[in-house]
Amino acid sequence: MGKLKIAIQKNGRLSEKSLDLLGECGIKIPNGNQKLKTVSTNFPIEILFLRDDDIPQYVEQNVADIGILGENEVWEKDRNIEIIKKVGFGNCRMSLAIPKEESYTGISYFNNKKIATSYPKILKKFCDKNNLSVEIEEIGGSVEIAPGIGLANCIFDIVSTGSTLLMNGLKEVEIVTKSEAVLIKSRNLSEEKQQILQKLLFRIQSVLHSRENKYILLNAPNEKVKDIISLLPGIKSPTILPLAKEGWSSIHSVIKEDKFWDIIEQLKEHGAQGILVIPIEKMIL
Ligand code: ATP
Ligand code: MG
Repeated sequence: MGKLKIAIQKNGRLSEKSLDLLGECGIKIPNGNQKLKTVSTNFPIEILFLRDDDIPQYVEQNVADIGILGENEVWEKDRNIEIIKKVGFGNCRMSLAIPKEESYTGISYFNNKKIATSYPKILKKFCDKNNLSVEIEEIGGSVEIAPGIGLANCIFDIVSTGSTLLMNGLKEVEIVTKSEAVLIKSRNLSEEKQQILQKLLFRIQSVLHSRENKYILLNAPNEKVKDIISLLPGIKSPTILPLAKEGWSSIHSVIKEDKFWDIIEQLKEHGAQGILVIPIEKMIL
């Protein structure tokens, strides 16, 4: 049987999370990422460890069938590949930043400025759209030091916390776009590989659902059960079981984690006790 080839980042911010995702999909991967490629022992998939910059090209040319990388690299490389889905990590902003002592006057500030970036295509699109005339200085990395050493006036780069900018005396003034990690695929997959991909996608979907959701159990007096259920939007409807203690029930349901924090106070007000929130390992809808 053929194997689906997936390219993931060899060494970087997306590496561990990409491997974790495959691991949570029940895919066993033997040697970590020390080698260039490795084969799963229990799923028809081969993992290629590459620089994220190269993944779009490899997928376009069918060296890899699918890949996981930041949307930012997908947009910048602009290859003929297809984005299948977001995989729930690698969130960041792509922003313009200027020296912190400068006063920012709005987007026209950038007119006639020299901007250093590793993402010239994305930046050019943005500048064209906003009728900005700028000089784009493309550099491979450590973009944030460019203004300090006199290579450029300002930068366009990836930001997540902003601490790198601060350390280099810069401030973020314009968010151009947001990016996160995505699964991409080649435009010409064989029928067999397409089928393996469908299996993988099914597993990824169930992992992503389970990450967002928690299993909740709580006890409540019977007369409060109706009120409490109305607070708990379960997958279909909650399970209600009688407790050994007369007049009390146990309520089980599935709830979005962020939702849980919104309703916890209301649950307590309605008499809920012994609330347990439990991670779900897999969730098949
Ligand atoms: P490679 O050696 O594979 O080319 P890299 O240096 O280009 O690695 P990383 O810094 O590991 O890339 O970042 C990989 C991706 O992680 C980015 O393209 C982006 O999508 C995402 N990311 C999320 N947060 C950040 C951040 N704070 N800084 C940089 N990248 C981030
Ligand atoms: Mg890179």
